[in-house]
Amino acid sequence: MSDKIIEIKDLHVHFPIRTMILQRTIGNVKAVDGVSLDINRGETLGLVGESGCGKTTIGRAIVRLNEPTSGEILYDGQNILDHSKGAPHPSRKDLQIIFQDPYSSLNPRHTVRNMLQEVLTVKMGMTKEDAAARSDQLLKNVGLNPIYGLRYPHEFSGGQRQRVAIARALALEPRFLVCDEAVSALDVSIQSQIINLLMDLKEQYGMTYLFISHALNVVEHISDRVAVMYLGKIVEQAPTEDIFQEPAHPYTQALLSAIPILSGRKQRERIILKGEVPSAANVPPGCRFHTRCPYAKEICSQVEPQLKEIAPGHFCACHLTEE
Ligand code: SF4
Repeated sequence: MSDKIIEIKDLHVHFPIRTMILQRTIGNVKAVDGVSLDINRGETLGLVGESGCGKTTIGRAIVRLNEPTSGEILYDGQNILDHSKGAPHPSRKDLQIIFQDPYSSLNPRHTVRNMLQEVLTVKMGMTKEDAAARSDQLLKNVGLNPIYGLRYPHEFSGGQRQRVAIARALALEPRFLVCDEAVSALDVSIQSQIINLLMDLKEQYGMTYLFISHALNVVEHISDRVAVMYLGKIVEQAPTEDIFQEPAHPYTQALLSAIPILSGRKQRERIILKGEVPSAANVPPGCRFHTRCPYAKEICSQVEPQLKEIAPGHFCACHLTEE
């Protein structure tokens, strides 16, 4: 069996821009624009970048909440996009997602126990008795008293609701979990509880995570490797320590310069990027970061740099690292 549980190949997810009246397509928002990315079995891959860079769209494409325009997503070597959307396929329950706001994904009219039992009976084929016992166990696994199963989603705090969302994802015994800004809306003390819970569950269930976040300190803590996205492309990818110690891409350097250093590492000089992120409907030619890059040269606005290995396992797409 390959080390890779997920292989994303040249993925494009474009959203058409249509006129109000005749619904004619006049352009495309290129949310993901040619991404290739492997995720190894048992690792946590952090995916970072400013909002709108396409990181959430990749996570949603893996669980088929966004339909790709082209490309492949292999799960255990099988292209999951070969199955038409909505059609049953073996990977459906193996690939799960938890969101920033679990409230919107929990049915407000069902108690937590009913919600879990429905998943267990309908999707896992359990009897009612087995589902009742399993739902209590799942609540215990995420640190909630099973008696809380009698409550409705609105009766929980934000952190407790995220635990419920994790329990619901675990009910399907997933092998791969997309955590989409899963702790971003929580207080810092609750964030660390949920992160520790995710790390414990990963160990216990042998799962693989795609951890999407703009909170770089959290990503550094939880991830084995990190990929950095800018305007629909991966611009840098490396083991976590390498990327945080020696960021090679000017965009990564700017992102990391903004985080306060708590450990013994030296605080970097703050790099303030000028200008706004260009629109994904009107991507600049050449390097798409050239309109904001402090080191841009003539070639940068003409030739798009390719992601190249600059050190073992460390990839960067920048003309400076090609010299
Ligand atoms: Fe900056 Fe040029 Fe590198 Fe792009 S290719 S990040 S514009 S130096």
